[in-house]
Amino acid sequence: MHISVAIIGAGFAGIGTAIRLKERGIEDFTIFERDARVGGTWRDNTYPGAACDIPSRLYSYSFAPNPDWSHTYSRSEEILSYIDTMVEDHGIEPHIRFGHTVSDLRYDASDGLWTITFAEAHRTVRARSVVLASGPLANASFPDIPGLDDYRGHKIHSARWDHDYDFTGKKVAVVGTGASAVQIVPELVDRAASVKVFQRTAGWVLPRMNARTGETTKQIYRSVPGAQRLARSLWFWGHETVALGVVWNTPFTRIVEAISRLHLRTQVADPWLRRQLTPDFAAGCKRLLMTSDYYPALQRPNCKLVTWPIARIAERGIRTVEGVEHQFDCIVFATGFDVSTTGTPIPVTGVDGRELAAEWSRGAYAYRSIAVSGYPNLFFTFGPNSGPGHSSALVYMEAQIDYITDAVAQLLGNGWKAIDVRADAQDRYNRDLQRRLTSTTWNSGCQSWYLTEDGFNATMFPGFASQYVGQLRRVDLRDWRIFVHESARTPAAAAIQ
Ligand SMILES: Cc1cc2nc3c(=O)[nH]c(=O)nc-3n(C[C@H](O)[C@H](O)[C@H](O)COP(=O)(O)OP(=O)(O)OC[C@H]3O[C@@H](n4cnc5c(N)ncnc54)[C@H](O)[C@@H]3O)c2cc1C
Repeated sequence: MHISVAIIGAGFAGIGTAIRLKERGIEDFTIFERDARVGGTWRDNTYPGAACDIPSRLYSYSFAPNPDWSHTYSRSEEILSYIDTMVEDHGIEPHIRFGHTVSDLRYDASDGLWTITFAEAHRTVRARSVVLASGPLANASFPDIPGLDDYRGHKIHSARWDHDYDFTGKKVAVVGTGASAVQIVPELVDRAASVKVFQRTAGWVLPRMNARTGETTKQIYRSVPGAQRLARSLWFWGHETVALGVVWNTPFTRIVEAISRLHLRTQVADPWLRRQLTPDFAAGCKRLLMTSDYYPALQRPNCKLVTWPIARIAERGIRTVEGVEHQFDCIVFATGFDVSTTGTPIPVTGVDGRELAAEWSRGAYAYRSIAVSGYPNLFFTFGPNSGPGHSSALVYMEAQIDYITDAVAQLLGNGWKAIDVRADAQDRYNRDLQRRLTSTTWNSGCQSWYLTEDGFNATMFPGFASQYVGQLRRVDLRDWRIFVHESARTPAAAAIQ
């Protein structure tokens, strides 16, 4: 007994894949989710101020438009409720097995099936194809600072917020100044007695104008679907223009930096603080920060920016390298995720016992980010080099999902045993990709989680979103090897291998 498709993860990618499979008439699929609820990122990140940096019209699926977004940019709860609605509207819930943590994937070339093992005591499952939609930012990570376990106060990670903790009257530290931190700090200064923000690197900050969507606009979107498509399209092409300054280090990058400097100058009067908040790398090299609330919050009387590097965490607080110990009731770690650009999230064994983690030990790579040669019928969402620097992750994900569902539909519809991407097609793709990456901002010299320790970029796509989407528009079978079952081997069928 086996199922046709196993999807790992019930975040945006897993749910989107399920919807598109259903729309193709493929009902024999199961989503395995380790948690007890759908939503992924937006289920986990419920910290105060958690929101998306991409306008909701673009940070949503084109096949599931939502006329009711309350603002240009949505908060985490609204995005989570959008995911819930998709699950309900498309009848996905019966396909989900919660509390199933996939711990191993193993391919059997004799019958072209994957064996899926779980961390819990569930029975193994066999599947014709597997979609690994476990997400790149699913595992919260505490920083590697000495003494982390010595701290006796309260510790909170941004991705595992403790909603029972009362910040009133408390002395709080925020470690990190990335995308989550700049959303948390403005909320915390309103609640805590004092907030100290520990900054390692200043980021480029752009203003975020978040407007409420009026009832009339919503009504237009409800009654004229074309209006929503148009709005999405305008946002899409607007972001494509931004790529010129964010993906590549060009004169447009200087424009992005000038806008950011002007924003800093407008919001921060003190020249010394401005200097501390001025980045020393090209805009786009690390993720751009979108907020109009962060700088004002930093200048509140109960808030202070600390730029001395952290030496260690002590029993009562944080010791910085110049020997000062700052004492706190609570330390908030806005330090991101365990984003491995090498290895794999779970052990994956392919043809002839090949281990994907070993093959990716110096940096992950794939064919168009969605498949790896030697691992037939296995597909990735948000796979290697599919990260957008300037646009919505969902635009990229939708293209992956449509490609994957098309490939799966051909695999199942034709009764093939397996499809495996050709190694030469994969090599060609990656040679070109790495050549193109050399001229991008991410490879321009700053240190970021986009790169491995030796500077290999396994995360970002070096181009416009439209180019990424374009390359996934159709499954080109010339790049794939097709395997048929022994019983179906006719001279003609044998010839397609
Ligand atoms: C705070 C925050 C803000 C963000 N803002 C933006 C933004 O502004 N714009 C943007 O484009 N992107 C943003 N992102 C990126 C965001 O992660 C993606 O846009 C998208 O939500 C990823 O969806 P996903 O389904 O691939 O992964 P996830 O949402 O992470 O879902 C993966 C799911 O897989 C499950 N899972 C993982 N491992 C296993 C396993 N072994 N077995 C079973 N289940 C498993 C997880 O529990 C999770 O439910 C943000 C991310 C974060 C964390």
